[in-house]
Amino acid sequence: MAHAPGDPHVLVLGGTTEARALAAALAEVAGLRATSSLAGRVAEPRLPAGEVRIGGFGGPDGLAAWLRAERVAAVVDATHPFAAVMSGNAAAAAAATGVPLLALRRPGWAPVPGDDWHPVASLADAAALLPALGRRVLLTSGRQGIAAFAHLDGLHFVARSVDPPEPPLPASLDVLLDRGPFTLDGERAVLREHRIDVVVTKDSGGAATAPKLTAARELGLPVVVVTRPPLPAGVPVAETVPAALAWLAARGLTPR
Ligand code: NAP
Repeated sequence: MAHAPGDPHVLVLGGTTEARALAAALAEVAGLRATSSLAGRVAEPRLPAGEVRIGGFGGPDGLAAWLRAERVAAVVDATHPFAAVMSGNAAAAAAATGVPLLALRRPGWAPVPGDDWHPVASLADAAALLPALGRRVLLTSGRQGIAAFAHLDGLHFVARSVDPPEPPLPASLDVLLDRGPFTLDGERAVLREHRIDVVVTKDSGGAATAPKLTAARELGLPVVVVTRPPLPAGVPVAETVPAALAWLAARGLTPR
């Protein structure tokens, strides 16, 4: 929807399904300007509705300058739960400028009976644990996470990512270029066809990439789960897009 020069401006830090859903909702609001920001990591990103800018801001100071220059009234940090640098930058820039900040974070996954989960604090810890758990690994930690496993010569990796990964890479590696949402049947097939005996994932949460957890449970496979980095202190959190819209409505930015 077209916006006028004096309309309040909301910045959505994106890169997630929820960020796209929020952008779609905000694009329908009359009298509001909304901009989605993407890091530019993915060669052909799924673009959100409405105005989009791509690329880093230049740290917290660059983001603060952007918030001032673009007269931003509120920021919703809807980045991926593991995009901790950007979330920290958003908190610092919001504190420096006084612009209200909300984190939109889908809940993490929780194990259910039958799961054999091994929580670890980092990809490096996942790599240290892996040799004790299996030999053929499905790695779903994203293109940039694969380097943490490059030194594990004795294991075979099947790594799934949106774009091709870059070195350093494990010596024995098959790459599956794909992006979610994934189906349970599809995940069963991946585990079977590649004779996977252990899965590595971040605790991304959400439905789009959860079927691998069900498929692993069915086959009795261990799953190494990298737990989430903490959010910056003092930032309010909404778990759903409607809750984020309610937060914006409470600031008079969207209709109640
Ligand atoms: P990160 O490590 O937290 O951020 C590194 C730098 O990338 C930031 O300092 C910032 O650069 C830039 N950046 C990150 N998100 C941005 C955004 N939405 N708009 C503009 N600049 C952004 O981030 P990351 O983990 O590499 O993730 C990058 C993007 O991919 C995020 O948008 C995230 O939502 C998405 N994503 C990440 C994961 C994951 O597992 N980490 C998974 C799926 C999607 P400047 O300091 O120059 O501003």
